[in-house]
Amino acid sequence: MADTFKITLASKREKSVLRRHPWIFSRAIEKLDGEPKLGDTVEVYAKNGQWLARAAFSPHSQIRARVWTYEQNQQIDQSFFHQRIQTAYQSKSALINNSDALRVIAGESDGLPGLTVDLYKDILVCQFLAAGVEKHKADIVAALEQVFPQLAIYERSDVDVRQKEGLKPISGWLKAGAQTSTWINEAGSQILVDVEQGHKTGFYLDQRDNRLIAADYCKGKQVLNCFSYTGTFGLHALKAGAEHVTNLDVSQLALDTSAKIYQQNQLDESKYTHLNADVFKQLRQYKKQGQQFDCIILDPPKFAENKGQVIRACRGYKDINMLALQILKPGGFLLTFSCSGLIEADLFQKVVADAALDANVEAHIIEKLTQAKDHTVLLSYPEGFYLKGLVVQKR
Ligand code: SAH
Repeated sequence: MADTFKITLASKREKSVLRRHPWIFSRAIEKLDGEPKLGDTVEVYAKNGQWLARAAFSPHSQIRARVWTYEQNQQIDQSFFHQRIQTAYQSKSALINNSDALRVIAGESDGLPGLTVDLYKDILVCQFLAAGVEKHKADIVAALEQVFPQLAIYERSDVDVRQKEGLKPISGWLKAGAQTSTWINEAGSQILVDVEQGHKTGFYLDQRDNRLIAADYCKGKQVLNCFSYTGTFGLHALKAGAEHVTNLDVSQLALDTSAKIYQQNQLDESKYTHLNADVFKQLRQYKKQGQQFDCIILDPPKFAENKGQVIRACRGYKDINMLALQILKPGGFLLTFSCSGLIEADLFQKVVADAALDANVEAHIIEKLTQAKDHTVLLSYPEGFYLKGLVVQKR
């Protein structure tokens, strides 16, 4: 073959590849044959000459290569992408029976490093976050068109992580659709997803299961939904019979969308409030005013983007959890989440424990929560687990 690029790993560095972890760090590479460019396919060998894997080369990233396959006869072409997408879609659609929206591909976890594909009823939204998937974009789009012939395809690769791969932000139609927003169904409720202006790919599918679990705790309760985005925790809470929901967010666009969604679902206007406020400040304000709630949801954005931010992130989590526990009525429930993958479940639990201590509150874990079922965790890639939640009751 004309352009065969070859990576030889340093001694003992083959172990993680043999354990099918898809990342090859630059420091694990002893020798590089040829001059592979952004996203080119490279053959990965152990120091003893054993062929290990076929991977995509990322010249600018510390993760220098991401494995496509551990099977030597598998070529990286449209049919490869078709097979991976089809398999992931079939496995996942069998898991979800209460929505027409689904995470079809979650990057490494679904064997396609750097690719996110979310299905929102009639629109697919893709993020190409690594050099390999960027290079094969045409093949991937063609494969998606084959698996989902009826659907429009929108790209939302407008995220900072692309810089690490030497890629520029980009967004727009890959296969034109009629509109950039669509109403999806989640457990019988209609939710507007704006794939052009919404966060990430438009919506937070990873909280689907938790929103319904949370709703059960909110029946007949005064609910404070912090970091509400388009209000879906609150929506399900009201549908389940919550007395009142206050949605708190700093994005006016998200709050306006939320209000539109509540109208569409014919919720009683007297039962909800939308408040544009910073959660850190507003919780302090409630405390000062002596205002309390029966049920508080804390679903903040990712506080830790890298290892250097973990300590600061923990302080942030502790602060909001402490304040929330203080303004929670005795017997009330705190549903608290962290989507920072770098903050492991044990650490998060410790932070919430510290928060309870500082709040001088006795609190008990009732349930532990995780990401929705379609956000599967590949056993050989534990990094795919990132969303943790605790349901805590105050005594
Ligand atoms: N719970 C939501 C998803 C939350 S995403 C759902 O189920 O759909 C996090 C949200 O936090 C975003 O909408 C963002 O606008 C908001 N946000 C970020 N920092 C904030 C702050 N300091 N105060 C209030 N909202 C904030």
